[in-house]
Amino acid sequence: MRNPNCGTRLPFRTPHSAFRIQGVLMPLIRLVLVEDEHAIRRGIADALRASGYDVAEAADGQRGFEEAVRPGVDLVLLDLMLPRRSGLDVLVELRKCKPSLPVIILTARGSEDDRVRGLKMGADDYVVKPFSARELLARVEAILRRAGRKNGVSVDDDGDEASTARLGRATIDLRRREVCWSNSERGELSETESAILLFLLRHRQRAVSREELLTHVWGIEPTGLETRTVDMHVARLRTKLRDPSGRKTPEAILTVRAHGYMASPDLVPLDLPVQEVKA
Ligand code: CA
Repeated sequence: MRNPNCGTRLPFRTPHSAFRIQGVLMPLIRLVLVEDEHAIRRGIADALRASGYDVAEAADGQRGFEEAVRPGVDLVLLDLMLPRRSGLDVLVELRKCKPSLPVIILTARGSEDDRVRGLKMGADDYVVKPFSARELLARVEAILRRAGRKNGVSVDDDGDEASTARLGRATIDLRRREVCWSNSERGELSETESAILLFLLRHRQRAVSREELLTHVWGIEPTGLETRTVDMHVARLRTKLRDPSGRKTPEAILTVRAHGYMASPDLVPLDLPVQEVKA
């Protein structure tokens, strides 16, 4: 996944962030980094650029929001304690206009409340400062892989497998990350939420542990603390799958005590293979 242009200036940059390898125009992954501490921002930006990412930097929340809503942004790295506009505020506004844009929050050690709040508001992941460039790059890559983006290439891990499901009156299109109710109301799911649902659907004959979800959806080694991340996302997903008209919606995800989660029998795959697929 390392870009051959590592650490060098990209000579054929076009205004629409692309570069050329042997004459072929490749799209460049664009990240927005919102961090007010200059030294930290510098360090992260350098590491990301050395790995071939196109990085837009912002030193305050307002500027960060403006950068993040520009077209062509693939992922946002968002500090929470920021001048002019807090990271949580930016996240809330961002979720309104770009519900599926991947966001990783950068939090200080000890501020667990903020982290939990960030995840509740729809951040896809978080890293705790101080973190290594390697750790951050691994998180970024995992999220982008899930979003179907790799540096220079567009990937689709699921091949041509279709992915729609029905839940009561709702049709869930996991590829488009969209929920449609029969009254033509629509909702959007984030990359992470779609990935969780797809994983549960693929393994619908059994319960799936939080650790498994962390490994396969987040692409990270599970630790005790991070299993809460899964719960936070499942809670949010359940809320999003509730019928906006207020009618009773069948439960999409069942909690399996002391183990994890399972797709409910009411969540019916319309075009997924029913047998369990090895991850
Ligand atoms: Ca800060």
